[in-house]
Amino acid sequence: MPAAIDPIALLERLIACPSVTPAEAGAQALLADVLASLGFEVHRFEAGEPPNGPVPNLLAVRGSGAPHFAFAGHTDVVPPGEGWATDPFVATRRSGLIHGRGAVDMKGALAAFVAAAARVRDHRGMLSLIITGDEEGPALNGTLALMDVMASRALAPEMILVGEPTSEARLGDTIKIGRRGSVNIWITVTGRQAHVAYPHNGDNPITRAVRIGERLNAMPLDEGDDWFEPSNLEITTFDVGNRATNVIPGEASLRLNIRFNTHQRGSDLVERVRAIVEEEAPGAKVDVLLSGEAFFTEPGPLSAMVSAAVEEVTGIAPEFSTGGGTSDARYLHRLCPVVEFGLLNATMHKLDEAVAIADVERLADIYEAVLRRAFA
Ligand SMILES: [Zn+2]
Repeated sequence: MPAAIDPIALLERLIACPSVTPAEAGAQALLADVLASLGFEVHRFEAGEPPNGPVPNLLAVRGSGAPHFAFAGHTDVVPPGEGWATDPFVATRRSGLIHGRGAVDMKGALAAFVAAAARVRDHRGMLSLIITGDEEGPALNGTLALMDVMASRALAPEMILVGEPTSEARLGDTIKIGRRGSVNIWITVTGRQAHVAYPHNGDNPITRAVRIGERLNAMPLDEGDDWFEPSNLEITTFDVGNRATNVIPGEASLRLNIRFNTHQRGSDLVERVRAIVEEEAPGAKVDVLLSGEAFFTEPGPLSAMVSAAVEEVTGIAPEFSTGGGTSDARYLHRLCPVVEFGLLNATMHKLDEAVAIADVERLADIYEAVLRRAFA
C-alpha cells in the first residue's frame, strides 16, 4: 500500500519546476512518477511543431468502465516577471502562505487532486487526469491533442472537473459552470499620405476608421440571460501614430475585443465585423484571433455533486458563475458536462502569487469528497 500524498510537499516540489509555457521543467515527470505509484497508467507525449510546440502532455488513467470521471489541469505557468520578494521557483512559506509561481494557477490544485486520488483508491469505474503544458500559451497542442489521444483510445469521460482557481473571496464560494467566449480583431484602414495643405492629394483613413468604430460600438449584440452577462464589444486601442502636424496619415488601425455569451458564435461575430468594415472601408485589413467559444453546462448532476462536496467540507454553498476569462473548458465541454472549481484566484498571474496552506489542504478534502460522490 503506497503512502498518503502530502499535497503541500507535492506543491512545493511542483513550484520548484520552472515550467513557464511550454516547458514542463520536470513538473510532468514528477506527476507521472507519483501517479504511477498510485496505480495510474501514465502516458506522456509531445504535440505540435515550433513555434507553438512541442508541448508536453500527460494523460493518466486508473480503473476501467463506467463511470469515467476526469480531472483536467495544466502544469505550465505564466512568466514570473520582475520584482518578486523571493525566488518565484522556490516555494517559500510565510505566515501560513506558500509563495511561488503557479501556487494557485494551478499547481496547488494539481497537488490537491493527486492527494485526493491517493485517498480514494479502490473506486469502481475510471479516473483520469488530463494534464497539458500549454494552457497559458496558444493552447493549440495541449488539451486538443489530449482529446485526440483520448478519442483514439475510446476514452470518453462522463464528467470533467477543471481545477482552475475559481474561488473569489473564500475557498468554496464559486464554481464555474460556463465561460464567455473571447475574440480579438485587428482592423487596419489604409489611405494615402499627403501634405495637409494639399488634401486633394491625400486620402485620410481616420475618417473611415472612426465610422467603423462608431458602427461597431452601436452593433446590437444581446441582453444576456439568467446565467450570462450581455455580450460586450470593446474597442481596446485606436492608433494612427502620426507625429507630424502637417501630414495626412497613410494608415489608421483599431483593435477590439468581444466577450460573448452562448447567444453568439465567434465566427458569426467576426463576419458581422467584417461586413461593417467592408462597407465603410473596402479592402481594409481584418485580422482575427478567436480564443474560444462560450460554453455552458446547465446546472445538473455534476455541478450538484461538486457543490455538495464543497459544502460538506467548507460549509459554504457555492455560487454558480460564468464570469472570468477563458480556460481549456472551452474545448473539454465538447466531450461531456464540465465544471471548474479550485483555489482563490486573487493572486493568479501576479507578482508574489501565493496560496494559503490551509486552502490547499481543504481543497484536497473537497476533491476527495467529489471523488467519493462520483464513484459512490
Ligand atoms: Zn490556469
